[in-house]
Amino acid sequence: MATQKIAHTSSYYAASANPSPERPPLRGAERADVCVIGAGFTGLSTALHLAEQGYSVIVLEAARVGWGASGRNGGQIVNSYSRDMDVIERWHGKATADALGGMAFEGGRIIRERVAKYGIQCDLKDGNIFAALTHKQLKELEDKKALWERYGHTRLELVDATGIRRHVGTDRYVGGLIDHSGGHIHPLNLVLGEAAAFESLGGKIFEQSAVTKITEGKTVKVHTAAGEVSARFLVVAGNAYLGDLVPKLAEKSLPCGTQVLTTEPLPESLTRELLPTDMCVEDCNYLLDYYRLTADNRLLYGGGTVYGARDPGEIEQLIRPKMLKTFPQLAKVKVQFGWTGNFSLTLSRLPQAGKLADNIYYSQGCSGHGVTYTHLAGRLLSEAIAGKPERLKAFAGLPHFPFPGGRLLRVPMLTAGAWYYGVRDKLGV
Ligand SMILES: Cc1cc2nc3c(=O)[nH]c(=O)nc-3n(C[C@H](O)[C@H](O)[C@H](O)COP(=O)(O)OP(=O)(O)OC[C@H]3O[C@@H](n4cnc5c(N)ncnc54)[C@H](O)[C@@H]3O)c2cc1C
Repeated sequence: MATQKIAHTSSYYAASANPSPERPPLRGAERADVCVIGAGFTGLSTALHLAEQGYSVIVLEAARVGWGASGRNGGQIVNSYSRDMDVIERWHGKATADALGGMAFEGGRIIRERVAKYGIQCDLKDGNIFAALTHKQLKELEDKKALWERYGHTRLELVDATGIRRHVGTDRYVGGLIDHSGGHIHPLNLVLGEAAAFESLGGKIFEQSAVTKITEGKTVKVHTAAGEVSARFLVVAGNAYLGDLVPKLAEKSLPCGTQVLTTEPLPESLTRELLPTDMCVEDCNYLLDYYRLTADNRLLYGGGTVYGARDPGEIEQLIRPKMLKTFPQLAKVKVQFGWTGNFSLTLSRLPQAGKLADNIYYSQGCSGHGVTYTHLAGRLLSEAIAGKPERLKAFAGLPHFPFPGGRLLRVPMLTAGAWYYGVRDKLGV
């Protein structure tokens, strides 16, 4: 019986994707130095770094390249991690904060290097804005600027209410922080470009090839419905879509849905009014709104974390009111695409990376800020496989907490958490 092919979710990105071949499913036995599970940013970043160093690598993808969060996200290149170095220092000490801080701005550089080296067409633009809705948030941004500068990241500009109005056509914000080395991309086209770069170096990708079982050993065996890969090393990069394949990873992370829509293409005069400098924006709420323009002049607007990966039928109903609160001038504009995607949340909101066995590595849980971290993670995983594990160890040393209450309580607990944070956002505390 033929199995059903899994297509990309219906999204603006899928509708505007660069041409990319369908890869065959894995059939029979294959052998490689490294097998990677998952063709998102984490998996392909790792695979590309390894292929550049001459390793033979096979990537197994359950659906299509970029089918997961990497092909659905807001496209915002945001530096650092979901928890910043001040929190890391408070929780884990200065040495850990310094180690992670030294890498916090590397992922964005890797993306730019990749785009330039392989000529990836993914609408790369410079600049991201953290927008403050309250004076408390603006003070926190001032602190963030000082903190990031301490770690050598200097292309930052703090702006007041008048200053941010020059970048964002709304009166909602009291100010913001501009990171000129942030930016935005068409994420599906970035990941498709990275896949093509990997294949140009001899790497192999099998799509529609869900891994169903891993057999540990000196040679790891990775099984799919119709085939098997034998490899010296395995990298697990299934993130929020990994399911129960590796229970040890599942218990430490929670797939969370977040929703995105895009409008119809807007007249250029209107886009200049909304985002005159074409930077992307995220606000500073816990349950944040994020938005940007696309290359064909649509507004792409996301937000509305639905904890527990619930798939809301009416994404427009959920996001449109948020968009109109920021830009009431869009009241008559039509929404053309709406979709949902899962990111992986950890209890500490710090990413988790390390080893499951001597030759099995993983990375997951960027908690909503993964575009840059996943590119860094790929480099760190490839370094560890090549015998230089020091930088990966800085992440591996972070404690990974399982969600209290086990699997049954994770979703209700986080729904309550979302409600709590929603109330805090409304009260501005
Ligand atoms: C809607 C949305 C908006 C976001 N916006 C931003 C943003 O603007 N900026 C930002 O920094 N971050 C953002 N994020 C987070 C960011 O997209 C993710 O952190 C990042 O893409 C994770 O990449 P990944 O490769 O680890 O996982 P994914 O891209 O999810 O890839 C995992 C892949 O593994 C495959 N897989 C899983 N299990 C198996 C298996 N058993 N066998 C084979 N394959 C398997 C899946 O099919 C999937 O393709 C957003 C996330 C979402 C969902």
